[in-house]
Amino acid sequence: MITLYDQNNTKSVMFHDLGSGLMVQANQHIIIKNNEGMVLDPGGHKIYTQLFAKITPLFPISNIRYIFFSHQDPDIIAAANGWLMVTEAKAFISQVWLRFLPHFGIDRLVEHRIHAIPDEGMTVSLGGEPLQFIPAHFLHSPGNFMVYDPSSKILYTGDLGASIGAPYEIVSDFKEHLQYIDPFHKRYLPSSVPVKMFVKRAREMEIDILAPQHGAIFKGRECIEQFLEYLDNLTCGFELMGDNLGGS
Ligand code: FE
Repeated sequence: MITLYDQNNTKSVMFHDLGSGLMVQANQHIIIKNNEGMVLDPGGHKIYTQLFAKITPLFPISNIRYIFFSHQDPDIIAAANGWLMVTEAKAFISQVWLRFLPHFGIDRLVEHRIHAIPDEGMTVSLGGEPLQFIPAHFLHSPGNFMVYDPSSKILYTGDLGASIGAPYEIVSDFKEHLQYIDPFHKRYLPSSVPVKMFVKRAREMEIDILAPQHGAIFKGRECIEQFLEYLDNLTCGFELMGDNLGGS
């Protein structure tokens, strides 16, 4: 567990070591503002029990107002029903994926608390302060959102910036870090077009920490700019598939 920010009634905590076995390492993030909480990408069933136990001492589970799902992957939504059953929270997921979520066994009693995020994004109020759901479609999912907290200036990027296998939690040497992010970004991002659009947008934002759902976080202007520069020059997805796309 790492506290990413703790000032002025906002606390941001990242859990990074709750997985086990073959499951891909994943980060779960919690944002607490004025004693109200939002859980981001809470993970699957095995993570659920552990995350529940870790959150309890931080603040009351009943104060979780929102559950945010950046997209539809199992490492994000598999335990959605558990979280909805033990809280009164509203869950948010792209309108593209809303009706896929119930296939993970969502109880009828809690279904009405799942809300669609429109393609253009939206802002919610947590503890009286705004949190933005920012469109990031095709990075990698076709219905995909990031969360931006204007207080902490943390951009929660979901799968963008994901690293697999890096033996640290904060990137200190971007060149060294490349080996852990490059295979993921080349294979999971469908095309460089939405990537370049993200870079343009991110450069206009004030970002102190870029926090992905897998692997190490990017902290500070220099490290974040190195990552954006990498993305701006990335060729990925179908652009690299060649004959493996099935065509000729
Ligand atoms: Fe994913």
